[in-house]
Amino acid sequence: MKFVSTRGNAPVLSFDEVLLSGLAADGGLYVPEQWPALSHDTLKTFASMRYEEAAFKIIRPFCAGVIADEDLFNIIETAYGTFNSDTPAPLRDLGDGLWLMELYHGPTLAFKDVAMQFLGGMFDHVLSKQGKRVTIIGATSGDTGSAAIEAVRGKDAIDIFMMHPKGLVSEVQRRQMSTVRENNIHNIALEGTFDDCQDMVKAMFNDPAFRARHPLSAVNSINWARIMAQIVYYITAATQLGAPDSPVSFSVPTGNFGNVFAGYAATRMGLPVEQFLVASNSNDILTRFLDSGTMEMKGVSATTSPSMDIQISSNFERLLYEITGHDGARVAELMEKFQSTGRYQVSDDEFREITTLFTGACFDDERVAAEIKNYHATRHNKPDNLIDPHTAIALAAARENRRDPSVPMVVLSTAHPAKFGDTVKSATTIAPQLPDHLSDLFEREESYDILPNDMSAVEDYIDTKVSQHKASV
Ligand SMILES: *Cc1c(COP(=O)(O)O)cnc(C)c1O
Repeated sequence: MKFVSTRGNAPVLSFDEVLLSGLAADGGLYVPEQWPALSHDTLKTFASMRYEEAAFKIIRPFCAGVIADEDLFNIIETAYGTFNSDTPAPLRDLGDGLWLMELYHGPTLAFKDVAMQFLGGMFDHVLSKQGKRVTIIGATSGDTGSAAIEAVRGKDAIDIFMMHPKGLVSEVQRRQMSTVRENNIHNIALEGTFDDCQDMVKAMFNDPAFRARHPLSAVNSINWARIMAQIVYYITAATQLGAPDSPVSFSVPTGNFGNVFAGYAATRMGLPVEQFLVASNSNDILTRFLDSGTMEMKGVSATTSPSMDIQISSNFERLLYEITGHDGARVAELMEKFQSTGRYQVSDDEFREITTLFTGACFDDERVAAEIKNYHATRHNKPDNLIDPHTAIALAAARENRRDPSVPMVVLSTAHPAKFGDTVKSATTIAPQLPDHLSDLFEREESYDILPNDMSAVEDYIDTKVSQHKASV
């Protein structure tokens, strides 16, 4: 399988190359050249298959010829062995054809573990086979950082530098990063905002002298391998609920559009889906687009669902590439327009194609708190009666914006309620408990360094830490 850029003007890459690279040279994102097809009969077999087994069958065609079957199988088994549940994606029946898919049983309690645990194993495998090492740099406002750190901890061929805005992530989120004390984990609290952290990462990627010293990699959601790992649970959930004989719908709490794009990818492989609900908080750029056909940037505002506080959704570009029939020139035109004017409009045909499948809905913090409270009240005597704010947004959308109530609707539950315990407590008066493996999180020793918002200071720091780590292995 080969991978091409959504803007049609960058080298065609193999799976291992795509894994280790970030953005394509033309500014686009990598996507598979064609989609592997899963037949009706094959899809039916997933209904009763172990998750790991299904993951192997679904992922295999994308890395054919690059990753040996046995290695792929071992990477998948190891990745999901870290989960605190029978399967990484259990379904909870909510009645009325609504199902909650709990994707938060991984080590850092958010759905990002599903892809990141797999990605960490893939990185390790490919690097050790090629005798290479990489330096991963990233910016995080919370969940991505801890999931990435947990996925690569202790791996000798990898150094990871994760920058968070000093004082601007929650204590649980900071501690999930700073208490992982390994030689290859480097936490930076930057004296700046999340945007400063992101700008710093971009600036370092664009600094040729720095790049000559460090083979840089990124693990943000533009990494194709993350999307690929997320396709699996759409297929396992849908086939358990009647697909491919009948369609299923999904409601997805959305930020960067990575997760819901993985669902769309499943449809390209043959899964029948009736509707994707793209659920947002008050940062409603996607809702406005799905109502009007115009994508228009506004500022970002802070909400109680911070993992969805986005200004733009980078992975939407992948959908544009698909619905334009792989027209890289058209995607490049729209993206250039967006970059220069903060706005673009799709054609009537393109809009129709997108809205056949995708519907938008957005909910403010007040509505989110009401949904958390209502969920708790209606399930007060059930053990699992708390949901996190991101999940609450998808559930509210599922209740209000479902097109066909006769089609089962799967609501993606993307974080454990204890990860956003303050919001859950203020809505319900109940403080959700952290699971056992994290119950002593607040007693663990932390390690992170505070650095000024200054590129040369950060680059010097990285130079020093990488050479110290290399000397120690
Ligand atoms: C990252 C994240 C999201 C958004 O997912 P995207 O793939 O960026 O759309 C939603 N909920 C939680 C809890 C997250 O961590």
